[in-house]
Amino acid sequence: MENNPMLKTHKIALAPNNVQATRFAQHCGYARVAYNHALADFKRGLDDGDWHSHIALCRRFNAIKHDTYDWCKAMSQCVSKNAIYTNLNDAVSRWKSGQNRFPKFKKKSHSKSYQADSGRGTISVVGKRIKLPKIGWVRMFETLRYLGTICKVVISKQGHRWFASILVDTFVDDPISLVLERTDPRGKPVVGVDVGIKHLAITSEGHYFANPKALHRHERKLKRLQRRFSRKVKGSRNWYKLKDKIAKLHYRITCIRKDAHHKATTAIVKGASRIGIESLNVAGMIKNHRLAKALSDASLSTFLEMLRYKSDAIDVKVVEADRFYPSSKMCSACGVIDSDLSLSDRTYHCSDCGHTQDRDLNAAINLRTVAEGRSETQNACGDLVSPQPLRHESSNQVWAAIARQ
Ligand SMILES: [Zn+2]
Repeated sequence: MENNPMLKTHKIALAPNNVQATRFAQHCGYARVAYNHALADFKRGLDDGDWHSHIALCRRFNAIKHDTYDWCKAMSQCVSKNAIYTNLNDAVSRWKSGQNRFPKFKKKSHSKSYQADSGRGTISVVGKRIKLPKIGWVRMFETLRYLGTICKVVISKQGHRWFASILVDTFVDDPISLVLERTDPRGKPVVGVDVGIKHLAITSEGHYFANPKALHRHERKLKRLQRRFSRKVKGSRNWYKLKDKIAKLHYRITCIRKDAHHKATTAIVKGASRIGIESLNVAGMIKNHRLAKALSDASLSTFLEMLRYKSDAIDVKVVEADRFYPSSKMCSACGVIDSDLSLSDRTYHCSDCGHTQDRDLNAAINLRTVAEGRSETQNACGDLVSPQPLRHESSNQVWAAIARQ
């Protein structure tokens, strides 16, 4: 998501023919050559005490490109300009402001993208087709979801698939409602959402969203391919074939994960007037090596981020619980905190009021309480009970127990 609310990106898979796919790859190569040439030029300038701006670097590249790289005549010239004006300029500015290290040269194996437009409104999209310079009309898998002026188009490759990321300056008031169909939130429930590894998400309404465990499912196949790959001669035909196969599998894993995330977040956001979530300390949890893999396979922070931006788009408020809020250790009926809760226990049983419930559902209900703005509940005797922060109950332990199941 862009910071400017009127700028929206839609990334669409492309269906180029073989000629077009080859042209894509050539343009990616041209972007890399221009970037690397200008970066080398910039470095030499620094050594001589000259600061070349991106404008000067582009002019200097244009002066030599037809002699040094005569093949570039067949390419779209906005590609080299964008590589220097946008990509290199950004990299240099980030280095100058101390945000990043000095820009590196782009490697052939990692340079699978280029910016195709030559400014605002220069690319046209009609239905499921996009017209790109020097390539022509390319088929897309879906139509562009936003109305407005196309500001920027980046072509990139992921696995075996080509994509166009289209940045649109939308002129309609509320573009995302085209996708999410804004409905009246009144009459819809406040929903608490507990995320985890066993299930991706559990809502206080009792909806369970399965975790596809995409990596876990394909792990053996991936390992087998990687073993075979390591035995091939680098640069050989079979080496390239396997390299493509591995990239394709990685892409598939990403797609399975994303699909589950999109389906769950859309369903949750559409059915809620307000959402309560926990705040994850993912960086802390990843430190636990046994958990790291299962956690990154679920990529829970991406899930919560998706939930946030979709809610934001249709004005559903998301309330995040305090980091120490004991959502899984507190009884959702009486508010008593059971710090002796057995970590492997899937069922929550309250020794105070006898309330028995699925552990995750109990947590989701507690998060709903947070969203409702009353994290104080009454206990059986009618006294107000404020949940106390847990002492030294590390969230790692809780997660380790969940991962074991
Ligand atoms: Zn209780």
